Amino acid sequence: MSDKKRLFGTFGVRRTANDVLTPEFASRLAACYGTLVKGTVAVGGDTRTSTLMLKQAVTAGLLSSGCDVVDLGILPTPGVQYAVRKYYDGGVMITASHNPPQYNGLKFLDEDGIGIPDEMDIEIERLYFDAEPDRVEFHEIGQLYQNNEVIDEYVDEAVSKVDVDAIREANLKVVVDCGSGAGCFTAPYLIRKLGCDVTTLNSQPDGFFPGRNPEPIEENLQELIHVVKELNADIGLAHDGDADRTICIDENGSFVLGDKTFTLVEKQMLKENNGGTIVTTVATSQAIYDVAEEYNGEVIATAVGDLLVARKLKDENGLFGGEENGGLIFPDFVYGRDAVMTVAKILEIVAKEKKPLSELVAELPVYYASKTKIECPDDEKEFVMASIAEEIQTTTDFKLDLTDGVKILKEDGWVIIRPSGTEPIFRCFSESDSQQKADEMTEWGLGLIKKYKK
Ligand code: MG
Repeated sequence: MSDKKRLFGTFGVRRTANDVLTPEFASRLAACYGTLVKGTVAVGGDTRTSTLMLKQAVTAGLLSSGCDVVDLGILPTPGVQYAVRKYYDGGVMITASHNPPQYNGLKFLDEDGIGIPDEMDIEIERLYFDAEPDRVEFHEIGQLYQNNEVIDEYVDEAVSKVDVDAIREANLKVVVDCGSGAGCFTAPYLIRKLGCDVTTLNSQPDGFFPGRNPEPIEENLQELIHVVKELNADIGLAHDGDADRTICIDENGSFVLGDKTFTLVEKQMLKENNGGTIVTTVATSQAIYDVAEEYNGEVIATAVGDLLVARKLKDENGLFGGEENGGLIFPDFVYGRDAVMTVAKILEIVAKEKKPLSELVAELPVYYASKTKIECPDDEKEFVMASIAEEIQTTTDFKLDLTDGVKILKEDGWVIIRPSGTEPIFRCFSESDSQQKADEMTEWGLGLIKKYKK
């Protein structure tokens, strides 16, 4: 058996809906998962046109393998993760996150609500391709239930974890852009429960995503930026299609980078808890380490992937974690990137600090990043990385971190050369105390790759 995955990516399976990801495919894959779980499985989905079709197929597969199924309706991925951790043995979320409308995907969860580990992905693939899922006899076929309440419980628990009175008193004017995704069912209600004045954009669920592309990057959030400025709002908030990521726009209409949001919340979490363990990936900013040092925190860096961060947070009993793309993880709430807790926490910070968001961001450590990619055939990647590591070790004093690709730590910054798991490319990121130095470091990293690839 090969240990290379045949279907799964880093978190579930994502394909074009009804082309590769057909009902038959989804149903058989769900039956394979159900064969391993043999318990009660929660199923939820985002707002895509293919979601209901795939949810019925997944449900049928699970029931046929003897699992009971609880339908949670349309809700964010972290809403399903929350429900599974509290009540169920497993979960399946039907979503393609930030991808365009023709895509969909299946995210499978373990009993803690964390995406299942690689070994289980491979075992599901083995059942799918080389064996058969368990198809139980007629008297063992599962039962189908509904739970329409868990979504409110999920929002209410996030509200209970912040100082609602302080947020209410601050009288914040908030604009939220749900991108017609799953956040439509949580974000506006959450912000209203926190006592803010809410203006909604794209908050009608629609699988055609008519207002904007579901990926919350700056070019897709121009309307939100415009409305924040026009209304003199305190903050703009945007989610991706399955509402696990959150992006902020400050009161001037400036896009706030994900690692700034991460650092801002990290600082607050460490202050409130007198320190704690922070988990992130090797590709996030040095600012995370600087803040941790100042506020009695300890940072653990994993390879890139939100699942790895979530699992490490659980194993290490960590306080807080995340990635540079606006995915923040609050492990005492959900073991995964969560948007409701992120929004509640950011509004609480703005309210309690009594400062505009732009000022709070300006107080954080400043670093400059440079990101690029370069093509390299998959079968040359190992050789390129080993050669670069060898060259650095034998010819320089720079420190190396080989957690994920090759990260070279210099006095005034770092560069990481990381192979993509899905494409024949290397990603090369660097960070330093000036933009020029960051750009130079990226060029240097690219030079190293070019030197060793054929
Ligand atoms: Mg997402």
